Amino acid sequence: MLERVEQAKQTIQQACTRMDRPIQIMEVCGTHTVAIFRHGIRSLLPPQIKLLSGPGCPVCVTDQGYIDIVLELAGRDDVILATYGDMMRVPGRAGTLERLHKPEIKVVLSTDDALALAQKHPDKTVVFAAVGFETTTPASAVAVADAASSNLHNFCILSGHKLVVPAMQALLGAKNDKIDAFMCPGHVSVILGSDAYKPVAERFHKPCVVAGFEAVQIMEGIAAICKQMAEGRGEVESVYGAAVTPQGNRTAQAIIDNMFEPYDGPWRGLGFIPGGSLRLRPRYQRFDALHRFGISEIPAEELGGCQCGRVLCGLIDPPQCPLFARKCTPDSPIGPCMVSTEGACSAWYKYGKH
Ligand code: SF4
Repeated sequence: MLERVEQAKQTIQQACTRMDRPIQIMEVCGTHTVAIFRHGIRSLLPPQIKLLSGPGCPVCVTDQGYIDIVLELAGRDDVILATYGDMMRVPGRAGTLERLHKPEIKVVLSTDDALALAQKHPDKTVVFAAVGFETTTPASAVAVADAASSNLHNFCILSGHKLVVPAMQALLGAKNDKIDAFMCPGHVSVILGSDAYKPVAERFHKPCVVAGFEAVQIMEGIAAICKQMAEGRGEVESVYGAAVTPQGNRTAQAIIDNMFEPYDGPWRGLGFIPGGSLRLRPRYQRFDALHRFGISEIPAEELGGCQCGRVLCGLIDPPQCPLFARKCTPDSPIGPCMVSTEGACSAWYKYGKH
């Protein structure tokens, strides 16, 4: 293991010598962000390498407009709002779910828990706040399919599901010259397959390297990126071993595709990304909370003062936000990047000098 880390360090150093300029790598995944801090990866790298946190934390990229709709629905007497724990403390215009102190707001660990709530409370509509990338979307799709097949009419989802590749394209399409390469998320790539990143690598000529979450895997991912850059290449590569195939998990892809269709939905900090969000297909519209409650769309909104949008685009590091560690801390978060355990602000706070 140590030998592999040393080998990666040497490759990185050699590439830095050849490049003679900063190399800015965006890790697209929140789990990578946390793992990089936990393993002290930055301390192993030459100063030329700059790691940027990207839009890979599902709660962080969920737009403010979505949070406000969740709060609105949670306030209704006829609704049980089911959500994963991280969403409880994300601030919206009307506060947070936690501060509503309603027994009808339930933290669930799985979509099965949300379906069980619907079975147990036939007099209420259970709305599941469905956020996340390609890793969690299949579970939402299966939950809707189960509700449909068992005639569970009092269950619906508020889809905040998102797609990783359109976000990467949007970041580079906005002429973000801070990003030289992407370290692509391991878990999402198991579903998507590494070939999914080819449009990014080919159009923008940027290395897209899939890496795992162990220290050695992250170092090898960075080394592969540096080597490509030193050789003038911008290609898709996986150093995640057998877990990631070029085609990915076709069954999971089919489950997603059967239930959801891409549309131009809002992302925090990135605005409306073409084909970057997922909504239920028309044949499953009756399980769509927007449709059921007559809400026409999720508006794009920003929370004043919070710089999460700029953090998610790699434009600033969290300590450059004037509120970081002053008004905004994990105990008193102002934006989702400080709430979520995968958020960049939370990771910088926890593993920095605070
Ligand atoms: S430190 Fe707080 S206010 Fe600033 S960007 Fe991060 S979450 Fe938003």
